[in-house]
Amino acid sequence: VWDSPAHPYTRALLAAMPSSDPDRRTEKPPISGDPPNPIDPPSGCRFHTRCPFAEPLCANATPKLTALDRMGHEAACYMAVPGSGHSRAPREETA
Ligand code: SF4
Repeated sequence: VWDSPAHPYTRALLAAMPSSDPDRRTEKPPISGDPPNPIDPPSGCRFHTRCPFAEPLCANATPKLTALDRMGHEAACYMAVPGSGHSRAPREETA
């Protein structure tokens, strides 16, 4: 998770950590906007209204939690699902 966060929200959380190193200060907020209303959450991926990588499919359907590797890492993000249709998703392997 620390070395290679797969979900944009995890990346944003890690980027929000303050650094005592002046050369590693965060210049701009990793995410912007207000969190959605939990009583009336947005459609599809709950993070799509604030995600810098959101695409139309993110608002249309909720991504399923998907295993990423044998280490037990999982993410619910179309960018992590091969062949999901997201422009940043890995290509599906063909056998
Ligand atoms: S599914 Fe889409 S909106 Fe949700 S975190 Fe992934 S890229 Fe962002």
